[in-house]
Amino acid sequence: MILQKNDNIEAVIESLGYRGEGVARVDRVPVFVGGALPGERVRAHVILVKKDYAVAKLTEVLSPSPDRTEPRCPYFGRCGGCNLQHIKYGAQLAYKRGAVADALKKIAHISADVGECVPSDSEYGCRNKLSLPVRRGRNGTEVGLFAYNSHRIVETEDCPLQTDAVRAVLPGLRRIAARFAPYDETDGSGELRHFVVRDLGGAVSLTAVLTSRSRSLRDRLADAASAELPGLGEMWLNVNRSSGNVIMGGETELVAGSRVPVDIMGMRTYVHPCGFMQVNPSVMRKLYTAVTEQAAAAAPDTIIDAYSGGGTLTALLAPHARSVIGVEIERAASESADELVASLGLTNVRNICGDCAAVLPGLLAGVSGGSMVVLDPPRSGCAREVIDAVNACGASRVLYVSCNPSTLARDLALLSNYETVSVRPFDMFPQTCWVETMVILERKNS
Ligand code: SAH
Repeated sequence: MILQKNDNIEAVIESLGYRGEGVARVDRVPVFVGGALPGERVRAHVILVKKDYAVAKLTEVLSPSPDRTEPRCPYFGRCGGCNLQHIKYGAQLAYKRGAVADALKKIAHISADVGECVPSDSEYGCRNKLSLPVRRGRNGTEVGLFAYNSHRIVETEDCPLQTDAVRAVLPGLRRIAARFAPYDETDGSGELRHFVVRDLGGAVSLTAVLTSRSRSLRDRLADAASAELPGLGEMWLNVNRSSGNVIMGGETELVAGSRVPVDIMGMRTYVHPCGFMQVNPSVMRKLYTAVTEQAAAAAPDTIIDAYSGGGTLTALLAPHARSVIGVEIERAASESADELVASLGLTNVRNICGDCAAVLPGLLAGVSGGSMVVLDPPRSGCAREVIDAVNACGASRVLYVSCNPSTLARDLALLSNYETVSVRPFDMFPQTCWVETMVILERKNS
């Protein structure tokens, strides 16, 4: 490669990469320039040269793209949360549609038509969940978001992506954090490692993740919450004693406030701190409506809702099949799903708490051709056992809801007994490169 570290280059950006970074070609080598847009001529400073690619820091935009806009957040570019704030919203949607099509083509060799990306009602103020690490830093306690691909904290006093209710508690979180010894990843010392905030439709649920549990820690947390954030809906304590990257540990206890129900499309349900709730309410409604419309049109005998979380989608599917079975690994989420079934008086819905890889082979062996399988796995996609069980089953239709186009494409290629008939992206995560996708698959005639 001719490029050298510390070179200053001038280049025209050709496309956007998977993380929203501009991609130029210098001597046919891809150079990733964060913050640069397709069509722009830019100046950049080379900071990394590898065998088959390079990374450069944007220093000047010589000819701005018409898609360029001013990021709303002062932390944009440093904080690892967002990577598309410099792109107008319509162009973000077009980019995501292209990214899904690209992943399907390159990874799965599927050239299905990808529908337009369904927008979020608002492009800021739309996210109902924020996880903030607390760490011992050079200047004492640091509360913020991690920088991209790093465990360095960017101290964030505000996050315009969040709903007003989440934003309103952020100053109080810093005051609570100041009352505890911050976690130090290098030696595992300290008391407080994370805050997780959720907007339950106006009322806020706050979880403080601690390194250990004692009566005095619990009392200090309850005192801190009532002094610093007296209006909280729920205040939870969670204990994580592990040294890994997982945010929550296994022990959870309500320490102040009382459980607040959240309204999800007319259903009152309770979301446990370890349970799942879609992070963008307007897009959640559009996605759930699209999935239930498919079920209504197919009128299946049985629906297997795999990776079912707190069971909200499972419950919405109930009117459209003779029986619906949700499968979810997280006990707290599965219990919320059971509570929801009981409170709605649904008699045709059953929830199984277990690993889809273990449960689905047996469950799907018994389903008839008139059945439907919904798959909504986490970012890592479906386990091989799940794919094999779906391929082997008789279900005529599969709905795959994915939050990661790469694992979606990998799994669609493996679902060899099914044909992709429709692909629709949903903008669950505005301002970020992430995208939700609903894919309809039909069983191939064998
Ligand atoms: N469809 C649900 C939740 C989707 S999120 C909704 O709309 O709310 C994915 C869910 O899969 C999470 O709740 C997660 O706990 C669960 N999960 C992850 N791995 C799993 C596995 N191996 N087996 C079953 N569930 C799993």
